[in-house]
Amino acid sequence: MSIQSQKYHRQTTAIRFGHRRTAEQEHNEPIFTTSSYVFENAQQASDRFSGEQEGNVYSRFTNPTVAGFENRLAAMEGAQYCVATSSGMAAISGLVLALLNSGDHIVASTGLFGSTVSLFTKYFSRFNIKTTFVSLTDIEQWKLAIRPNTKLIFLETPSNPLCEIADIAAIAEIANQARILLAVDNAFCTPVLQQPFSLGAHIVVHTATKYLDGQGRCVGGALVTDDEKIYDELFAMLRTTGPCMSPFNAWTFSKGLETLELRMKQHCKNALTVAKWLEAHPAVNRVYYPGLESHPQRKLAKSQHSGFGGIVSFEIKGVKHEAWEVIDATEFISITANLGDTKTTITHPASTTHSRITQQQRDRARITDSLIRVSVGLEYVDDIIEDLKIGLDKIVPTQTKAMQR
Ligand SMILES: *Cc1c(COP(=O)(O)O)cnc(C)c1O
Repeated sequence: MSIQSQKYHRQTTAIRFGHRRTAEQEHNEPIFTTSSYVFENAQQASDRFSGEQEGNVYSRFTNPTVAGFENRLAAMEGAQYCVATSSGMAAISGLVLALLNSGDHIVASTGLFGSTVSLFTKYFSRFNIKTTFVSLTDIEQWKLAIRPNTKLIFLETPSNPLCEIADIAAIAEIANQARILLAVDNAFCTPVLQQPFSLGAHIVVHTATKYLDGQGRCVGGALVTDDEKIYDELFAMLRTTGPCMSPFNAWTFSKGLETLELRMKQHCKNALTVAKWLEAHPAVNRVYYPGLESHPQRKLAKSQHSGFGGIVSFEIKGVKHEAWEVIDATEFISITANLGDTKTTITHPASTTHSRITQQQRDRARITDSLIRVSVGLEYVDDIIEDLKIGLDKIVPTQTKAMQR
């Protein structure tokens, strides 16, 4: 049984949609660990290969467990089509390979995920696909960057690590006027907090590795679209180049989607509590979180998101070694650049995720040595705060110390 996705709330879709029960009447989604499929006879084999008859041929193309995840995720995004991939990066490279040609041009936001920047600048430029990077928040820059050969606008919002917000609807209008495609990487928000299709995006990009799994178990990705022609191109390219999702990973992600709404709500709640606490701490200079009154784009965030996400960045009153001390002083928070996990993680962007860009690029992106990024997990929030407090209390600036005396 599969249910009509439009009829129900996303939360019901996330739990009930995508699985086609087999003759065994299993309640839970099974994992189909099979590379190929058998045919009734030679005629059926021929019909399946020619595409005259729909059905499974080989698991690089289709697999029922993978299809279950694809259908569930697409329905949650409010779209019809999805291609699952072996990683988020496989999704992004597949997107460009499928839809662009040599000589085409991409406009993208600065401050994209590090590997995405490498992919666009180092690798696609080798095939004469060039990328212009513009400020996520400056609509004029997006407009001015469009050239006659621009085929794709690619953005990530909120940005990493400073949580800047792109006005998706305004950028979609620019894309539509120029008749080019808009792809949105929805890793930070997931369909629970932000629905790019309702704002005019043509393709939604996912890393399933982060919140969709949510428990740090598997690497995977996906491309979602509501346009059949785009889907056909994506499917053909990705199934030919080969980065398919394993059935086990697809099963893990499907189970992840079932609890996504609950988890995201709690991530948001914990993150807001942590952000407010950080903002009041004397050793903290500035907190970047869209849920705070101090966030310059709070209004846009409020209209575009149903929650402000789990990523909080903050600048301490101190230099690099003090930022490192705050990180090292934590007892249970994981020191890792990964995000979107039930486990809270902490990282120093300038020396990890953003260490490969130049100092000048870091300065322009305002990724200072005193910046720390936390992916707020689902531990009890007071414990998360206590863990951050250990190091922060040690660097209370002298000025404040004098006042306390
Ligand atoms: C992690 C991440 C990716 C890449 O996903 P992988 O599954 O690691 O390949 C892409 N975009 C964003 C925003 C990410 O956080």
